[in-house]
Amino acid sequence: MDSDKAIATVTAKGAARWAAGHPWIYRSDVVAAPRGPAAPGIVRVQDRRGAPLGQALYSPRSEIRLRLLTPGDEKIDAAWWRFRIAACAARREGIPATAYRVVHAEGDGLPSLVVDRYGPFVVAQLLSAGLETVRDDVLTGLRQALEPQGILLRHDTAVRRHEGLPLEVEQAYGEVPEAVEVREGAVRYLAAPRHGQKTGAFLDQRDNRVLVGEHTRPGGRALDVFTYHGSFALHLARHAATVLAVDQSAEALARGARNASLNGLTNISWREANAFDLLRALERAGDRFDTIVLDPPAFAKTRASLPRALAGYKEINLRAMRLLAPGGVLFTCSCSYHVHRADFLGMLGAAAGDSGRRLELLQLTGAAADHPEILNIPETGYLKGALLRAVD
Ligand code: SAH
Repeated sequence: MDSDKAIATVTAKGAARWAAGHPWIYRSDVVAAPRGPAAPGIVRVQDRRGAPLGQALYSPRSEIRLRLLTPGDEKIDAAWWRFRIAACAARREGIPATAYRVVHAEGDGLPSLVVDRYGPFVVAQLLSAGLETVRDDVLTGLRQALEPQGILLRHDTAVRRHEGLPLEVEQAYGEVPEAVEVREGAVRYLAAPRHGQKTGAFLDQRDNRVLVGEHTRPGGRALDVFTYHGSFALHLARHAATVLAVDQSAEALARGARNASLNGLTNISWREANAFDLLRALERAGDRFDTIVLDPPAFAKTRASLPRALAGYKEINLRAMRLLAPGGVLFTCSCSYHVHRADFLGMLGAAAGDSGRRLELLQLTGAAADHPEILNIPETGYLKGALLRAVD
């Protein structure tokens, strides 16, 4: 390894975090910054006695100062990234979709690196200052491991601000088109890597969309609230007689309609509306649905907003429960990192209690298998889903 590499010294508490399997060391546990303290990059890490702990990405401006890359002292070059990324891709072999996450950052042992595949194209995010300094090696590793036709960097995400990095979208290699047709189980849809949310689609719900499709009552009425570009609606529409798909984004709904025709589906109505208002109106009208999906954006952006967020989740869930036909199924979820599983289940219990309906819990879910949740790294497990059935 390069002997001139900068060294960061950490407290016993910081070292203990790594020993316990968490890849982050915070600012307060870095006792001596690397030489040239303001410069981000890959550094060697040692404890106060000088014992080597491994190599990490160093972010001088972030609360998260060190992100563990390897406990070893091997050279971290393009070949290192290629090997790691190829291993991630190999773990995803056999996924029944052409768009999925290839690298889930901390969940895959490659902190702050997100890589999504959309058919022959790759959309990546380098989310820490340390990682940004080795961007050429990462891109070379990506090209060699995945052989994509193009790599787009969706660096227009707010978390880069904590790292002092610019927000931008950049074509790093080849060409990535505006819309990419992808397959997900029996459904095809258009992802929008340049302008869509996240990296172009919500890949984290992939498994759940297939699951809900399987629980959709054949010939029944279905409702997909917060549909975005119709991702759940397409799976529902293969079984239900009619689907009402709701979102406040006209642009997303327009893509939803194109997605429906791509699949030859003519039984989805697209409604631009505020979900809170629409659910209230449907309840007032005495409507009933056999299958309902609630996939809202993260209501709790901070820990402080948790009580308000839970009130919002409870409101939409309560109304959705009342809208269920007897025997009907509700798939409901939260992608707020600050809403823990216990909060989510507590909220659902309270909503069920107020709904006047009896509901059974059929299944609890997390994010799709390509977004591995590591048990002692809470940050990797943001998505909570519950599949409920109205008993009568
Ligand atoms: N179910 C989708 C992802 C939904 S993301 C999928 O699997 O791909 C959340 C969506 O909620 C976004 O499309 C956003 O436009 C929409 N949204 C946010 N607030 C809303 C509101 N109050 N009413 C209706 N839609 C809303």
